[in-house]
Amino acid sequence: MNMHTISRRRLLAAGSALTGLSLAGCATTDSGPSIGRVVVVGGGFGGATAARYLKMWGGNVDVTMVDRNPQFVSCPISNLVLGGYKQISEVTVGYEGLKAMGVKVVQGEVTAIDTAGKRVRLADGTQLPYDRLVVSPGVDFMNEAIAGLATPAAQAKFLHSWKAGPQTVALRQQLTAMRDGGVVAISIPKAPYRCPPGPYERACMVAAYLKEHKPRSKVLVLDGNGEIVSKKGLFEKAFADRYKGILEYRANAELKEVDAGNGVAKLEFEDVKADVINVIPPQRAGDIARSAGLINQNNRWVGVNWLTMESTAVAGIHVLGDSTMSAPLMPKSGHMANQHAKVAAAAIVNLLKGEAVNATPVVMNTCYSFVSKTEVVHVASVHQYNAQQKQFLTVPGSGGVSAAASEVEGRNALSWANNIWSDMLSKA
Ligand SMILES: Cc1cc2nc3c(=O)[nH]c(=O)nc-3n(C[C@H](O)[C@H](O)[C@H](O)COP(=O)(O)OP(=O)(O)OC[C@H]3O[C@@H](n4cnc5c(N)ncnc54)[C@H](O)[C@@H]3O)c2cc1C
Repeated sequence: MNMHTISRRRLLAAGSALTGLSLAGCATTDSGPSIGRVVVVGGGFGGATAARYLKMWGGNVDVTMVDRNPQFVSCPISNLVLGGYKQISEVTVGYEGLKAMGVKVVQGEVTAIDTAGKRVRLADGTQLPYDRLVVSPGVDFMNEAIAGLATPAAQAKFLHSWKAGPQTVALRQQLTAMRDGGVVAISIPKAPYRCPPGPYERACMVAAYLKEHKPRSKVLVLDGNGEIVSKKGLFEKAFADRYKGILEYRANAELKEVDAGNGVAKLEFEDVKADVINVIPPQRAGDIARSAGLINQNNRWVGVNWLTMESTAVAGIHVLGDSTMSAPLMPKSGHMANQHAKVAAAAIVNLLKGEAVNATPVVMNTCYSFVSKTEVVHVASVHQYNAQQKQFLTVPGSGGVSAAASEVEGRNALSWANNIWSDMLSKA
């Protein structure tokens, strides 16, 4: 039985529920009249998963996904590119699978969301009307929080490499060009930020590269937080056992200012001079979420109804992933964005059909971190919707962290990445 057959049957079964629904200009898909138009802004972990699952579960939903980039480039595993253990091509996946699923994939910059007129505007003037909108733009950077970082020259020198792609490759080039005996500083913002364990994994990958190829060099980890914010004991052990003498970790070392001319990072009480300075700035919901008026939490994040992922600021817009105000102990991760997308896709299909949404969603997360080129540690958690608190809460006793780093987990981490890329982007 192919998917179109299932879709047609589901449509027939849902026939009575469809009565009275706007048929979105009576558009048709290849599996019958469309039950609604959904536009997805962002083709990353949240957006691509939502687009794919809307087609799988909704079938005859019109789905258009817009991303500024021609291909998906994964942040997970991109720290291995910095170590020289992977190429950027190995963390890059095309959108052909989604197109084969029937998703209209548009490459373009979304410049505005007309929330009253229910249309999305692209830089080239294209307008995309929607019945429901999914917004998963990831994060943008609060460069203004660090004096001196607002200029293009400073941003070109102090790379974030916190969106995988050209900056990942450029930071790798800075590392390979550095002299043996040089210093690499990595500045970590105060939480919350995208991928809590990511900066510490990055420190391990850079230290592993230096240990092997430039052993007189050093990695200085300048953490704006009071302590390592994820997998603390495991990273402390990795730093002490594997990178002693190469990696120096400093807590409460929040970056206040950068001096692009002299290559200096200024902390509260000292100036740090380094050959390479990787500045991961503080973050907030993506620019498009801000300009659309979706940010309503701490002036940084988007509040959502966790049963549908619908914005609490603007009806009809479902926001996923890093842009959301995270539930307690819920990380900003690719795995979690993928889970948000499934909650949203199921709810949108229900809402378009006039059906009730799932009242008891459960989501989960696993984040793997490489501490050497082959050995990995993980953290996992399960989050269940609590109707009284209208919130996802962690399930007591669920999840946890690895007992120790291992190569078995190294293989699991690579399998996790391949599986989730497939879950987002492959043809069913
Ligand atoms: C170094 C690093 C390592 C990480 N490792 C892991 C890991 O091991 N496991 C894990 O689960 N997570 C990991 N993460 C976190 C993970 O990458 C993010 O949490 C995840 O990408 C969030 O998904 P998202 O959909 O919110 O945003 P994204 O995946 O960033 O997708 C946003 C998309 O929207 C597009 N976009 C934004 N605005 C516009 C616009 N105006 N017009 C058009 N397109 C637009 C962007 O181009 C992008 O493709 C890591 C992150 C980093 C930086």
